[in-house]
Amino acid sequence: MLNFYPGPSKVYPEVRTYLTDAYDEGMLGTPHRGEQFVQLSRAVVGSIKRKLNIPQDYYVFFATSATECWEILTQSLTTKKSFHIYNGSFGEKWYQYAKKLRPNAEGLQYDANEPLPVEQLNISSDTELICFTQNETSNGTQVSSTTILNLHNRYRSTLTAVDATSSMAGLNLKLIKADIWFASVQKCFGLPAGLAVLACSPRTIFRAKQINERAHYNSLVTMYEKMLNYQTTHTPNVLNIYLLKRMLEDRPFIKQIDLELSDRAQDLYTFFSQFTDMKPLIENEEVRSKTVIAVQASERLVDDIKKRALHHNIRLGNGYGAWARNTFRIANFPAILNEEYEELKRFFLHYYA
Ligand SMILES: *Cc1c(COP(=O)(O)O)cnc(C)c1O
Repeated sequence: MLNFYPGPSKVYPEVRTYLTDAYDEGMLGTPHRGEQFVQLSRAVVGSIKRKLNIPQDYYVFFATSATECWEILTQSLTTKKSFHIYNGSFGEKWYQYAKKLRPNAEGLQYDANEPLPVEQLNISSDTELICFTQNETSNGTQVSSTTILNLHNRYRSTLTAVDATSSMAGLNLKLIKADIWFASVQKCFGLPAGLAVLACSPRTIFRAKQINERAHYNSLVTMYEKMLNYQTTHTPNVLNIYLLKRMLEDRPFIKQIDLELSDRAQDLYTFFSQFTDMKPLIENEEVRSKTVIAVQASERLVDDIKKRALHHNIRLGNGYGAWARNTFRIANFPAILNEEYEELKRFFLHYYA
């Protein structure tokens, strides 16, 4: 089966070996307060900073999902409100979750074919957290590093949180330009679901300590205190943390991965621009995602493509949210091989050219 689903997505084939190694090394029943786990956890934090270009002074935490990160940030870093800038389903869901905990949270929706409108923003000074999605998995758009820099320059004193679930470990993100970044591992990390990585700037921790919210098992200050000893507040997903360690050790630096993915994204957009009855959903090249390619066609054709692809053992991503029926999505994730995209292209040329 060729799997182009943008999450959960294809896992690295090496995961099979890592799994048996985890068993053989006694990782599966190891106590999470013991030396073996602490060593593992310390090693992962080191590798993730080195391989993904995470600034040395940022703090790295483990959570179970990106959704959990949304909640952690709202409960532990806002007392009144956050401000959410979004153009698709995941950004909107984050906003909805925030509103359940902090009803004063505010949101601004913008057009999927436009860059995030930094100049038009009107964010009040009592906003505690600015939130946006770097790569909107639902519609295949991304926020460029220039835009992130502009946002950072305009609201320097406000904490900024970035959902990078479908780009972290795929793109060379400039983490220094925002305070908080997070991703779950079932997308670009090429690992099974059930783990998320959360990276926070020093001033994020400073703020969390000021607020000192301790009402939850996953309150950020408690997570921070435990992580001083490379531990977690609860029994974590040790297996997945182990897989993460092995995967990071075996992969090149993120700069290299980013180059390869960017080339492949370019190639895929060119490829899907040649058909008469389908085209990339996002026309503005400046905001096109490099890791999730959304292709638009009539509902009938989309249905036909997905069915026929499955018949040929090719799993495409369904459309999502507002684009559920008239788009399909193709993950451009590092675990998927160039040969697999060549096979995908042959399929489209054979049936739809
Ligand atoms: C997949 C995804 C999520 C949700 O991730 P979970 O690990 O299921 O919570 C959130 N945001 C974005 C941008 C995603 O792509």
